[in-house]
Amino acid sequence: MAKVTILTTGGTIASRPGAGRMAHGDEVLGTVPGLHEAAEIVHEEFCVVASSQMTPRMMFNLGKRAGEVLSGDVDGVVITHGTDTMEETVYMLDMVVPGPKPVVITGAMRTAEEVGTDGARNLLEAVQVAASPQARSRGAMLVLNDEIHLGRFVAKVHSSNPRAFGSPAQGRAGEVHGSQPVFYVPQSPRKPVPADDIVTDVDLVRLYSGADDRLIKACVAGGARGVVVEVMGKGNVPRGILPGLDECRKAGVPVVMVTRCQAGPVEIGRLEDQFGCINGGEMTGLKARLRLMLALAAAGQDRGPERMRQFFA
Ligand code: ASP
Repeated sequence: MAKVTILTTGGTIASRPGAGRMAHGDEVLGTVPGLHEAAEIVHEEFCVVASSQMTPRMMFNLGKRAGEVLSGDVDGVVITHGTDTMEETVYMLDMVVPGPKPVVITGAMRTAEEVGTDGARNLLEAVQVAASPQARSRGAMLVLNDEIHLGRFVAKVHSSNPRAFGSPAQGRAGEVHGSQPVFYVPQSPRKPVPADDIVTDVDLVRLYSGADDRLIKACVAGGARGVVVEVMGKGNVPRGILPGLDECRKAGVPVVMVTRCQAGPVEIGRLEDQFGCINGGEMTGLKARLRLMLALAAAGQDRGPERMRQFFA
């Protein structure tokens, strides 16, 4: 039987509003019929919080812990987590956890006290995926509502529906059929960012019609060590932000650009040449921000555009 360690962190899957509290992990696991038939389970509580209270540092530490667990006699790790920031944590796991063993995050859109509660099934399916040899070498995954999504692409797309996650860039990576994962995309090993720490002072600015440089300048004035800008379409920006980009360049604050669209790459050659901006590739601003935190730590003192681009290639 496969060995799966479950790290619990809180979220709606642990919420018991009727009792006015959030349950500890052992109580969450106790609500799942068939869990111990799916794998040999070890449980460890990481924290008990709503995911709105998760910080990048907590996500990083969670990834480091998952990596430690996986270096032992374990086949896979499952993490229970609130859905609100799950798309960020799963991408952090993708960048931090080395090796081919499955790392799967899951949660619930409905509490255990609601009609149609989804937490128990989601957790069971996450364990079934983590226990499967088919799930190796696929990066960190999110399992919810019978769907498997890759951490790199997944986003929360609905605030209340149990089908709350989507992967706009490529669709779901697989589904759980019965008790088995079925994958629609080939295996692709994780490529962890070699960072022993993170630099958390990274801001995210979304461009909108008529945007000027006030927010970007406020980031620099507020001490940001890096800024991610979600640009329009394939890489267009309102002229009003250009002085802000120049200020970042002069202050040595790397600016990573991704599209504000749900999916797609950017072409920012002119902004790269003029202001040293970095092309973040095809990912959301939320994910690029976490990647920049790791890149800044991994880069050490050399945070010039050429060096930083290596982390987004
Ligand atoms: N409030 C919850 C959270 O911790 C929402 C959820 O888990 O679905 O993110």
